[in-house]
This record gives sequence, C-alpha cells and structure tokens, in this order.
Amino acid sequence: MQNARTVHDAFDLTGRVALVTGAGSGIGRTTAEVLAGAGATVICADIDAGSAAETASGILGQGGRAESAELDVSVRGAASTLVGHVVARHRGLHVMCNIAGTMIDSSIVDVDPDEFDRIVAVNLKGVLYGCQAAGKVMAAQRGGSIVNMSSAAVLAPAAGVGPYAITKAGVAQLTQTMALEVGQYNVRVNCVAPGFVPTNMTARYYTGPDGAVDEQAKAAVLAPMARMAPLRRVGETADIAYCVLYLAADASSFVTGQLISPNGGVSMHY
Ligand code: NAP
Repeated sequence: MQNARTVHDAFDLTGRVALVTGAGSGIGRTTAEVLAGAGATVICADIDAGSAAETASGILGQGGRAESAELDVSVRGAASTLVGHVVARHRGLHVMCNIAGTMIDSSIVDVDPDEFDRIVAVNLKGVLYGCQAAGKVMAAQRGGSIVNMSSAAVLAPAAGVGPYAITKAGVAQLTQTMALEVGQYNVRVNCVAPGFVPTNMTARYYTGPDGAVDEQAKAAVLAPMARMAPLRRVGETADIAYCVLYLAADASSFVTGQLISPNGGVSMHY
C-alpha cells in the first residue's frame, strides 16, 4: 500500500478484503459496517454464526459487500483455516481486525483458574492466532494492516477487571513486537484501546437475570463514566470503528506498532 493521492483515496478500501472477528455484535459489528461503507469486502466472523450472518446481511442490504463465517477465535487452527478460505476465494487478505473478546469481573486474588484460562484463550490467544494467520498471508503478499482490540483498562488499571486487563496488555505487547517483525514486509500492526462503550459486553452492569435492561441502573453506570471523561460522554461503537478504519486504510500508511485511544480523554499517554 502506498501513500494515497487524495483524501478520498486515503480512506477508500475499494478492492480490499477485510476479516473482522467478533462481528456479530457491538464494536465488531459497527467496524464491519464502517469498513464495508469504505468499500471493503468484509468477512464478518463470530462465534455466533447467526449474529455474524445478520451483520453481513445488513451490509448487503446497504449495497455493500459482505460474507459471514462462524469462528471461535480461541480454537487453535480455526483462524488459519478461515483465512485460508478467504484467500482462496478472494485472492488476498488486506485488513484483519481481531475484535472478538470477552470479559470477567474478578479480582486478581480470587480469579477462578478456569475462567482465567478462558479469557486468555479468547482475548489473547485468539488475537495471537488471528495475527499469525493474517500475518503470514500479508507478509507473502507484501502488504496489509492488522488492527487488534486492546482496552483503556491497560492504561487506567481498575480493581475488579485485572484478569481482563492482563489479556489486553498482552494484546498491546503482541501488537508492538509483531509490528517490529513484519514491518519489513509492508505489514502494519496497531491496536485500539477504547474507553467505556455501551455494548452487550458492558450491559452486564445493568442487565437483570431475566435479560431485561434496568434503565435506572444503566443511567447510574453511564453517568459517572461520562463525568469521568474530559469530553463528558461515554463512547459509541462508531467512535471506535472510525479509529479502526483509519488504521486499516492508507491514511495511516506510516503508522505501525501504535496504540490509539478513543476514550473521551479518560486516560492520556505519550
Ligand atoms: P460485544 O458486543 O460482546 O462483542 C463481542 C463479540 O465477540 C460478540 O459477538 C461475541 O459473541 C464475540 N465473541 C466472544 N467470544 C468469541 C470467540 N471465542 N470467538 C469469536 N467471537 C467471539 O462486546 P464489545 O464491547 O463490542 O467488545 C468488542 C471488543 O472491544 C472486545 O475485544 C472488548 O474487550 C473490546 N473493548 C470493549 C470496550 C467496551 O467498553 N465495550 C472497551 C474496551 C475494549 P457472543 O456475544 O456470542 O459471545
């Protein structure tokens, strides 16, 4: 990928193939929609085949290009198999977004070992497997952009989310080291560290056992989150998806190994 000639070109993904994990919901779904809006053919992958198919069909309904796939990112070899199919079908993979993730609430001292294994398997090994699969293809084709999902939890440690933050810190480290290794092949690797965004993942703070959202509890969770941010609001999935678009597109062709923080200013770093 070279420097783009116009602003439109810099963000245009026409002719590019993008694979998005966790595309069935939240940030992954909006990212798939935004990348498709920029012209990419998007493979929407999720552990839930039905929700991935819904995302793809929404994109097709808007005139975009999309397919869906079932993918459990924690399964060894699964990402590599899917990437192999994508490359065989589309003759390349230009953008890989490792967005699938899960969350547990636990202190470090009390974390259940099985739950810890599970969150490491999804959030850290899942990103590693995705990076390995895409990295090999992109290095061979001499170009590509990988975007991994980290978290503001890495920059602003909070009690009770330590096990989650550990996995996201691993993602940030993996991103930097891989960027060093594959830069020579014109492959860029960056990560995004969002602040609080209301999605299914964060809804557990205000959802009852019956699955109903408690609006009062929701307001009680969101209001202090918004107050904490210099921009005085929580995030929207599109805030994160547009950062991913920037990192995916030629607009960021000189950017690699970086962590970008759409977080309303909650944490700042040099
Ligand atoms: P979300 O709405 O729950 O989306 C996560 C998606 O990943 C879901 O569709 C989920 O499917 C899927 N998934 C879970 N395990 C998977 C697996 N093993 N293989 C493939 N797909 C799997 O949550 P989100 O808030 O959009 O989170 C997206 C990413 O952003 C995560 O990595 C998260 O850690 C990160 N993030 C979120 C926030 C936030 O405030 N929301 C902040 C910082 C970082 P199921 O629903 O079927 O499990």
